[in-house]
Amino acid sequence: MDSAPRVAVVGGGVVGMTVIRVLQAELPRAQVTLIAENLGDDTTSCVAAGIFRPGTSFRGPTPEITQRWIDDSWRYWQDILRTADAPRAGVTELGAYIFSRDNYHVTRNHLIEKLVPVYREVQDDELRLCAGDWRHGSYFSTVKIGCDNYLPWVERSFLRGGGKILREKVASLSTLGGQYELVFNCTGMGAKLLCGDHDLVPLRGQVLRVRAPWLKTAFYGDYDTYVIPGAGGAVTLGGVRQYDSYDLSVSPHDTAAIRERCEALLPALRGAELLAQRVGLRPHRVPVRVEAELGWSPVVHCYGHGGYGVTCAPGTALHAVRIGLDLLRGNTRSKI
Ligand SMILES: Cc1cc2nc3c(=O)[nH]c(=O)nc-3n(C[C@H](O)[C@H](O)[C@H](O)COP(=O)(O)OP(=O)(O)OC[C@H]3O[C@@H](n4cnc5c(N)ncnc54)[C@H](O)[C@@H]3O)c2cc1C
Repeated sequence: MDSAPRVAVVGGGVVGMTVIRVLQAELPRAQVTLIAENLGDDTTSCVAAGIFRPGTSFRGPTPEITQRWIDDSWRYWQDILRTADAPRAGVTELGAYIFSRDNYHVTRNHLIEKLVPVYREVQDDELRLCAGDWRHGSYFSTVKIGCDNYLPWVERSFLRGGGKILREKVASLSTLGGQYELVFNCTGMGAKLLCGDHDLVPLRGQVLRVRAPWLKTAFYGDYDTYVIPGAGGAVTLGGVRQYDSYDLSVSPHDTAAIRERCEALLPALRGAELLAQRVGLRPHRVPVRVEAELGWSPVVHCYGHGGYGVTCAPGTALHAVRIGLDLLRGNTRSKI
């Protein structure tokens, strides 16, 4: 009678939600419970601009695994993009320019140059699309994932597929032993306490959302300056990257600096109505932790995606689920 493995996924950000979606597809007979202190808009994932653009600080245990995570992630987002559900899932195509005054290399991205349909150096006239004395630039095509749509979209399909959700804080992963045959730990910065992981460090970020419906292309300038259009005419302006800061309050100083840098890049943003200001702690870890730990019940960790969790949640989730399925096969072969 007891034929369906009981699996818990702790964490309801983009990583945990992607794990439950992959799990339901790979192991439809499992009884999956999502346990999360916060969901939807209250997660770091919903602070993110959500552009698919891995950076060099995103690292797996080897360069090959890092690249596989990125490639698998791109395919996952493309698969959703090709369905009629893409707008409901918050996945859209986006073009982006990246400019630099004196560093050619920051405009290149070896992780995606052969992956995305277009990644090219800009023509001289394109350097003048933004105000300022830009000398180097690239244009690339990518996708943007609005987590405010993606997370509830996954949640709805998870519940339809028989999944359960518990809205609570887990004090210790060992308390889940006995109740579940397998646990996925997708708690982002929460893993710092749950695992006593000193390698996990917050990179504080702050963004503004302004109304600028005319803007259809993303722009990056120097010093972490970015302007990324999203749904409904809202545009994300950023940003800051403050190492080891746990401050979740909106800093008026950061607000002023972000507006000044973004308006210097795109003067047409001056006077754009301010819709929201958000702060989030990027869970930075090198390498991103995707591995099993055998304790009271086996745990598969999947956290530490830093500033690239929306980009790379799918590739890491696929890897984590594969590890989990292997564990279940070894421990409870009859239940698969
Ligand atoms: C300003 C900013 C801009 C960003 N822009 C981008 C971008 O453009 N592209 C990109 O790819 N990435 C971007 N990121 C990074 C991205 O947001 C993160 O990498 C990603 O959100 C991490 O997802 P996560 O699911 O691991 O964590 P989270 O979204 O933080 O989710 C963690 C989940 O675990 C739960 N949890 C934690 N501890 C416990 C516990 N003890 N018990 C129960 N539940 C617990 C939380 O409640 C939450 O549900 C940005 C981040 C910031 C801050």
